[in-house]
Amino acid sequence: MWVPESCDATNVLDVAVLGAGMSGLMAARRLAPAGWRVMVFDKGRVPGGRMATRRVGDAMFDYGAQYFTVREASFRALLEPWLQEGLARSWSEGFATSDGIFKADGEARYIGVQGISTIPRRLAEGLPVQHGTTVESCSHLDGRWVIRFKERPPVMASILLLTAPVPQSLALLAMGRVVLEAAAAVALTRIQYAQCLASLVRLVGPSRIPEPGGLWLDGEPVGWVADNTQKGISEARLGGSVTIHAGPEFSRTHWDEDPETVGRIITDSVQSWLGSEVTSVRIHRWRYSVPTVQHPARYIMARSPGPVVFAGDAFGGGRVEDAALSGDAAGAAILAEYS
Ligand SMILES: Cc1cc2nc3c(=O)[nH]c(=O)nc-3n(C[C@H](O)[C@H](O)[C@H](O)COP(=O)(O)OP(=O)(O)OC[C@H]3O[C@@H](n4cnc5c(N)ncnc54)[C@H](O)[C@@H]3O)c2cc1C
Repeated sequence: MWVPESCDATNVLDVAVLGAGMSGLMAARRLAPAGWRVMVFDKGRVPGGRMATRRVGDAMFDYGAQYFTVREASFRALLEPWLQEGLARSWSEGFATSDGIFKADGEARYIGVQGISTIPRRLAEGLPVQHGTTVESCSHLDGRWVIRFKERPPVMASILLLTAPVPQSLALLAMGRVVLEAAAAVALTRIQYAQCLASLVRLVGPSRIPEPGGLWLDGEPVGWVADNTQKGISEARLGGSVTIHAGPEFSRTHWDEDPETVGRIITDSVQSWLGSEVTSVRIHRWRYSVPTVQHPARYIMARSPGPVVFAGDAFGGGRVEDAALSGDAAGAAILAEYS
């Protein structure tokens, strides 16, 4: 049996975590302090996954998750220090809808004061995370997981924790010719996600999006419009910074269109809310944005061909908080089962 040259019995991880999004980081936060040899691998340059913030010119955009809600006490306990130190703040308890009238629903939405990605960045501090490491396959050889990468030599691990969107995790196992036990395979292949075309739009001046800077629209062709300037993450002197999320049907049917055309269709459809000249449009394609078919439990643990755990926002919710609770539960389950 072939074993990678860089791997020997002395450098086997206890747990290899794929994904430094909210779920992978929360799992590592359980495992690393317990003294386990754990490493989180992520293809991105920074932690956060779909909690993503980026700069276009000097303007800032949250272009994946826009805010997060807090329902469980354990997640609230995590949030409290972030609020106190000014890393996070409450944004609003509702937004205007297509008639421009604010609709409150009593549920607080929280944001990262300097962008939503600052939240996972804080969580990642002190954790063993390797960025710029794209996993290409996961196989199980001689009683160990072998994880192969695009950029670095392979790594061996006793336990594998997969937190990428589930179709991506399953594809990595398929590349490694892993056949999962039937019950897990059936449950995992049921999980589905919506596609989302996100437009990052710069304006000459301020937008007409009502305070406090978010709009819930009808879903198609656009479901959400946000003003990153009103939100406080982009400076007003730089002009308007607006994030537009196209609906799942529009995103699916326009997925392969060139960014210029699709950007024009999206901005035209919300023109009355932009209210100022558009200076640039960037399109980001989220192939797996939010889960539309979820699994009811917080994780799935399979034992054959070796211990492998699946976690992420598709397990028990579909939001940032669910991703966090899923990762935390998966980490705790690994400790309970294999300590
Ligand atoms: C457009 C959009 C809008 C959203 N709006 C909201 C919202 O307003 N509120 C809310 O609560 N939630 C929202 N969400 C959902 C929220 O972002 C997710 O629930 C949450 O961030 C998922 O975290 P996760 O850790 O499960 O997955 P992810 O954040 O996707 O993390 C998975 C990680 O795996 C890495 N990865 C994948 N494949 C590989 C590979 N082969 N090798 C190495 N690394 C790999 C990725 O780089 C990523 O960092 C939104 C999502 C999108 C896309």
